[in-house]
Amino acid sequence: MATTMICRSCGHAGLESVLDLGRTALADRLLTAEQLGEPEPQYPLVVVFCPQCSLLQILETVPPEVLFCENYPYYSSFSDALLRHSRDNALDLIARRELGPGSLAVELASNDGYLLKNYVEVGIPVLGIDPAEGPARAAATIGVPTLNTFFTAELAQQLAGEGRRADVIHANNVLAHVADTNGFVSGIATLLKDSGVAVIEVPYVKDLIEHREFDTIYHEHLCYFSATALDRLFRGHGLFLNEVKRLPIHGGSLRLYVEKVERVGDSVKGLLKLEVDDRVDRIDFYRDFARQVQQLRTDLRALLGALRAQGKRIAAYGAAAKGATLINYVGIGPEQIDFVVDRNVHKQGKYMPGQHIPILGPEKLLEAQPEYVLLLAWNFAAEIMDQQAEYAQRGGRFIIPVPEPKVV
Ligand SMILES: [Zn+2]
Repeated sequence: MATTMICRSCGHAGLESVLDLGRTALADRLLTAEQLGEPEPQYPLVVVFCPQCSLLQILETVPPEVLFCENYPYYSSFSDALLRHSRDNALDLIARRELGPGSLAVELASNDGYLLKNYVEVGIPVLGIDPAEGPARAAATIGVPTLNTFFTAELAQQLAGEGRRADVIHANNVLAHVADTNGFVSGIATLLKDSGVAVIEVPYVKDLIEHREFDTIYHEHLCYFSATALDRLFRGHGLFLNEVKRLPIHGGSLRLYVEKVERVGDSVKGLLKLEVDDRVDRIDFYRDFARQVQQLRTDLRALLGALRAQGKRIAAYGAAAKGATLINYVGIGPEQIDFVVDRNVHKQGKYMPGQHIPILGPEKLLEAQPEYVLLLAWNFAAEIMDQQAEYAQRGGRFIIPVPEPKVV
């Protein structure tokens, strides 16, 4: 593991401390029964702010080969909400950019092809790029050609050299994962046609801080972006943030439309102004965050402790990385939570990192009917509560942990 002392975006050396989450297991490293007896690697997790370019980031970089390649358990197609969100995004671009059989749509971190398949269906050539083996194989089987590798500046040059430049580049929830932030953005500039658009989604740091979404901070997420930080990053590579949309997905995200020509729209001007007004570009905005997160930990521990003292049984929903961050930071183990359920069959039968709680299929909720379910995947709360209507009808209750623990 490497620890950076300078800003990942602008190279500034005077990074200011925001939050220390302690040493923690890797949030996506689910364990098999055999691995429970082996030592589990743990790494520090420290959040800092760059006063020069206003980027919030973590100091630690775990090698990407450790994080994303072998047995990476995330398959996009397991969420209905995400599939709808992606389809709407693709159809909107196909119409607005008048894409056709002569166009090329590329997705960086294309996972199992969940987004590009919408282009394939209407005859638009696509190329997926993803280092995770299982999802890349799954994409190929549904007709989404996928390079099973990391996207880098070098790969972009190679593709451009072969005449494969893109009309649309999608990069959803990947920019924050990349250790070489500048190399990745320069690769986008190389791969994009002069008339093309890069459509990039990132979790929005303003929502993260205001809604206390500390559990979205883990070793995969190296950066936490504001529009201000992104605007500065893109301009360094001849790219311009021209349009932006705020989206509710993943607890609050930005969808950025980035082009090689500068035509900054009102949506971007408005958001940059809001960030100045709310001081998102200053350390003040982040000062209270650590105290609020500690308070959340105290409150959630007290709630779960009180329920257990009354003899209530508690399960959890969502073996996602954010769930691992939450249970590890708050200190929720098998004494509080009997089991975690998840729809992803690749996760079932494994154990949560750090706390070693077993992961089972969602049908287990109705079988065991615990009195409470802690929603670790609170970003999909509406979808999950909808799916679990019968559990609720039988008297089951849900606990939503952020921005403050509440029972619904
Ligand atoms: Zn910086």
